[in-house]
Amino acid sequence: AKEQASGVQQYDPAHDGNTASRLELLGDLRRAIGTDDQLSLHYQPKVSLATGRVTGAEALIRWQHPQRGRVFPDVFIPTAESTSLIHPLTSHVLELAVRQAKIWAQRGTPIPVAVNLSTRCLLDPGFTAQVFGLLYRTGLPAHLLKLEITESVAMADPDRALTVLRALHDGGISLSIDDFGTGHSSMTYLQHLPVDELKIDKSFVQAMANSHGDAVLVRTAITLAHNLGLSVVAEGVEDEAAVAALRELGCDVAQGYHYARPMPAADFDEWFTAHAA
Ligand code: C2E
Ligand code: CA
Ligand code: CA
Ligand code: CA
Repeated sequence: AKEQASGVQQYDPAHDGNTASRLELLGDLRRAIGTDDQLSLHYQPKVSLATGRVTGAEALIRWQHPQRGRVFPDVFIPTAESTSLIHPLTSHVLELAVRQAKIWAQRGTPIPVAVNLSTRCLLDPGFTAQVFGLLYRTGLPAHLLKLEITESVAMADPDRALTVLRALHDGGISLSIDDFGTGHSSMTYLQHLPVDELKIDKSFVQAMANSHGDAVLVRTAITLAHNLGLSVVAEGVEDEAAVAALRELGCDVAQGYHYARPMPAADFDEWFTAHAA
């Protein structure tokens, strides 16, 4: 369960149909993007199941609201995604993530950083130029940036999304399919996406210990990914039993509380040093 500051009024944009709360959230978020102390990124390591080495880090946004305390992305990302506010928000996240990746690269420990992308961003005509502009400006090699997208890109505007994904991929950025198994996935479509990695949603990873059906799904996803030449990441790995089961199934990479929670860059560095030792 996620910790919440007690006594603090949380936004509830999903429940209330109450437009006031939604508008307030959007206004607060717009102002937060303009400050540099409310929004930050936490980083969670991805670990190779074969070698134990860190293969990358996923950037996850955190919002420290001056009155409401910590607001989780599950609360504000969907609301931001329903408006064009997702564009400046994503630019802000990309900027922070790329700067951090650059710091790690310069320090001699290049760690690819993955950024979550809303499908809406792929339909933004300026998106590709913006990303390559950012890489150029910071001098970060493209292979150190990863973008995580969900299967819903296949639904939105397949032709347009495919064009953008190809441009990003041709430019050396690696792409992951996030939350695999939860969407209306089309296997035929998956075959045509220029992606490098498939992330199995944590709901299946966590259920597989007690449910034969979920274990079959995880096994099938791994086989499918490997047949398509993709690397497989399991999300939500919380214990050694899951690690053992996933290793047995030939899963490539694991991510979850078993290794580390998402954490600020300084804590990530400490964890990384201890982990490598
Ligand atoms: P996601 O991309 O599927 O990210 C994984 C979520 O699982 C994260 O929640 C992470 O903290 C959590 N998690 C990691 N390991 C474990 C584990 O072992 N057990 C459990 N129970 N959970 C684990 P978080 O950070 O609250 O983010 C929620 C969602 O919000 C993300 O799901 C992603 O869809 C979205 N999100 C987060 N940051 C961004 C962002 O910068 N941009 C966009 N567009 N979406 C974001
Ligand atoms: Ca993700
Ligand atoms: Ca997920
Ligand atoms: Ca997600």
